[in-house]
Amino acid sequence: MISVFGSANMDLVAYTARAPQRGETVAGRAFATIPGGKGANQATAAALAGADVAFFGAVGDDAFGPVLRRGLEAAGVDVRGLRTVAGSSGIAQIVVDDDGSNSIIVVPGANGAVTGASADDLEVIGRSDALLLQLELPMAAVVATARAAGAPVVLTPSPVQELPGELLDAVTLIVPNEHEARAITGLADPEEALGALLERVPEAVVTLGSEGALYGSRAGERLHVPAVPVRAVDTTAAGDTFVGALCVARAEGRSNAEALRFAATAAALSVQREGASTSMPARAEIDAALT
Ligand code: ADP
Repeated sequence: MISVFGSANMDLVAYTARAPQRGETVAGRAFATIPGGKGANQATAAALAGADVAFFGAVGDDAFGPVLRRGLEAAGVDVRGLRTVAGSSGIAQIVVDDDGSNSIIVVPGANGAVTGASADDLEVIGRSDALLLQLELPMAAVVATARAAGAPVVLTPSPVQELPGELLDAVTLIVPNEHEARAITGLADPEEALGALLERVPEAVVTLGSEGALYGSRAGERLHVPAVPVRAVDTTAAGDTFVGALCVARAEGRSNAEALRFAATAAALSVQREGASTSMPARAEIDAALT
């Protein structure tokens, strides 16, 4: 079983020829509401990849809360640990213009009200093969839950920020993309960044977009898994799909090389489709693409 303690957001996406300037109103072309948030995305990816998944977090008592909850349920995620709190759900207001550039306002809403996992949550987390954490909840809540987990902690350090030592001390596997790896270590070379990360945590994966991913462990294992060559149409949540699938394969006892190939295959399927949670592959698709 996989536990995820993290954010759930509603992405409110307006498509327009040109983003408005200050004080200006422009006519948009289309609008979409897409469930997102790195926590909910990783939970969805892991559930679709075949694991039992429990999600812990919060949504608001607004119109988006039930939609976010039902979206997770539809993917098979156990949402008994998803609280409903007064106020708005987390949202990301996104303007996408015809150049494909976007501007985004993220309002944490209910995510910002999460303080930590409850005793009941921790009982479930303690029975899990892995606890997946990201950095879209308050840092104090992330640190407290990591330290109390009683399960291997897998951290996606995004959005990138200063990482407290007490958090890293509780992490088994850290999975930054190459930009995050550089920001954390100050090293531009991914191999060197991987080495620096391993001075702080036992295992690390640096994802490299269409270049694949590097894995390293303090035990001395080093792997490079190439990306699966595909025509990418939307790489949103490629990393979340990768992490969710990676942890499912590790929980099934696969070797690191096999687990990385499973994750790269799942992520490659997701980048060929639009959207975040809407683009993630089911287990049968991943298995079919692997053979
Ligand atoms: P993030 O989405 O967090 O920025 P990356 O862009 O590094 O993360 O992508 C995560 C993983 O998704 C990569 O390691 C790779 O396996 C897969 N991936 C990303 N972009 C592509 C692509 N264009 N083609 C195939 N696989 C991709």
